This record gives sequence, structure tokens and C-alpha cells, in this order.
Amino acid sequence: MTTHCCEAMNSRVDVPCDRHADPFACPDTLVAFNAAFQEYGLIIHDGGTSSVTIGFCPWCGRRLPESQRDRWFDELERRGIDPGQDEVPPEFRDERWLASLPQE
Ligand SMILES: [Zn+2]
Ligand SMILES: [Zn+2]
Repeated sequence: MTTHCCEAMNSRVDVPCDRHADPFACPDTLVAFNAAFQEYGLIIHDGGTSSVTIGFCPWCGRRLPESQRDRWFDELERRGIDPGQDEVPPEFRDERWLASLPQE
């Protein structure tokens, strides 16, 4: 499990809930964390899957990790994978792909 910037964030991201398997359906979950992109979003509870990407934690004010979305697409392209058509390797579905990159 990913540890976030503070307790408040930990308790609002991916809240374990036995009534809602989908965090977007759970009113207790305020923040969606996309591990693959390292993006945090405030969930808009309108029944859909909309969220507003945030750059700072609303509780502790700390800067959140930089989005890796562009790099994600670059890395897949480098491997000749088109995420729109090909199957995305399992390590690209969460933050594991980042660990496999050479450290800068
Ligand atoms: Zn719930
Ligand atoms: Zn925080």
C-alpha cells in the first residue's frame, strides 16, 4: 500500500469500504490516487468517474509528486506498446513501472 503525505490524505485516499468496491461510488473517499501516473484527484461525486487533479495536499499543503503521465506514455512507446490498442503490461497499471526505470 502506498503511503501518502499525511494521515489525513491516507484516510481519504482509497478508503477501505465494504459497501463500495469503486472509490468513485463511495462518498467517504474524497481523493483518487492514480498510482501509475502518480496523480491525485479530487473526486467529483456525480455518479461518474470525474476528478480534478490536484498539485498540493488539501490537508497538509505539501506538494504532491509530479505527474508521470507523459513519461508513462513515453515509456510504453519506447517498448512499442500502444496503450490504446495493445495490452498494457501489469507493472504499468500501478507505480511498479517507475521502479524499473534507471534512476536519474
Ligand atoms: Zn463507501
Ligand atoms: Zn498531506
